[in-house]
Amino acid sequence: MELALYGGQPVRQDFLSYGQQWITEEDVQAVVETLQSPYLTQGPKIDQFEQAIAEYAGTKYAVAFINGTAALHGACYAAGIDDGDEVITTPMTFAASANCVLYMGGKPVFADIDKQTYNIDPINIEKLITSKTKAIIAVDYTGQPADLDGIKALCKKHHLVFIEDGAHSIGASYKGEKVGSQADMTMFSFHPVKHITTGEGGIIVTNSEEYAKKLRLFRSHGITKDTLKGDEGPWSYEMVDLGMNYRMTDIQASLGCSQLKRLDSFVKRRREIANQYTVAFHNIPNVVVPFQEAAGESSWHLYMLRLRLDSLSVDRKTIFEALRAENIGVHVHYIPVHTLAYYRNLGYKKGICPNAELYYEEAITLPLFPKMTEEDVQSVIKAVQKVIGYFSKER
Ligand SMILES: *Cc1c(COP(=O)(O)O)cnc(C)c1O
Repeated sequence: MELALYGGQPVRQDFLSYGQQWITEEDVQAVVETLQSPYLTQGPKIDQFEQAIAEYAGTKYAVAFINGTAALHGACYAAGIDDGDEVITTPMTFAASANCVLYMGGKPVFADIDKQTYNIDPINIEKLITSKTKAIIAVDYTGQPADLDGIKALCKKHHLVFIEDGAHSIGASYKGEKVGSQADMTMFSFHPVKHITTGEGGIIVTNSEEYAKKLRLFRSHGITKDTLKGDEGPWSYEMVDLGMNYRMTDIQASLGCSQLKRLDSFVKRRREIANQYTVAFHNIPNVVVPFQEAAGESSWHLYMLRLRLDSLSVDRKTIFEALRAENIGVHVHYIPVHTLAYYRNLGYKKGICPNAELYYEEAITLPLFPKMTEEDVQSVIKAVQKVIGYFSKER
């Protein structure tokens, strides 16, 4: 069959995006109810959403934010990251995982990934720990939990705060327990491509009352009504630190509460689709399917296909363009953070994380979201087989 890239018929007629939310009539009603209520923000829906997420993740506290990036900023504040402090993180992530350190005046230090899981490798982390290291931000890349026990042990040994970027991993499990209770603070994002959405939104789950208090303070200007000093009268409030306005609205939280009811079914469907991909692709010698560590059960935010470029007659860009021409909305997650212009200008050099840099050259993200139909899934499989088969040197 001629490739659509060269004028042939595409595998499908309409474009299939790589990720998409799933909003039902019930979700719409939940939002409408809030719009008709007395509170659009700082009302009861936030508490309800926070309690529901804490319960789901198995933590004592949850603090909601306007988006996941703000939540990570809050976590770095609560961890006490300050000028010159070093925080070790992975380059194979969205820029926000490292930017939050810069917001606090800290210095992100990039530890290379494991060659199989593509998650940050504790062995590489330990080599980078100095007297200035204050925290580790691990990312559960694609929804597969990082080596949480390994990282926890490092944090204990070196007195570091463990922040987990779980933007991909709500609903995933680690050693039989839901992701969220293992690190000191774990962030979940509710951007529309993530597992459940609030439009924009994020949250930190934690078992620490101290962190929860700091997160709430930071989210709302650093202002508290629990005034110990400066008691001006019944109206009294005090600003005790410089915070932000990072509050989630009740409109967002009501959508989140409604979506959360379907999270488990969403994750189940993501796992089914990922399994179909793996069954279809694991025998193709030109690609590597995602390796899954036994300790974790992924929530499958992303399905990454790794190309064996030496067995293909073209580069990743041509394969990518050929799949796009077949109307398959492939993507690439991620350009290693330390190689982005802003980081290059800060002095970060290519070559510091060879595993991540090589993996990036060979990675393609396939569409994966619960609303995909069986035909959608089959069209992705067919297009990958068509394009990879066409460019295989063995052909
Ligand atoms: C989406 C994402 C974020 C940021 O979340 P937002 O809610 O979009 O701000 C951070 N880290 C990772 C790994 C993400 O995928």
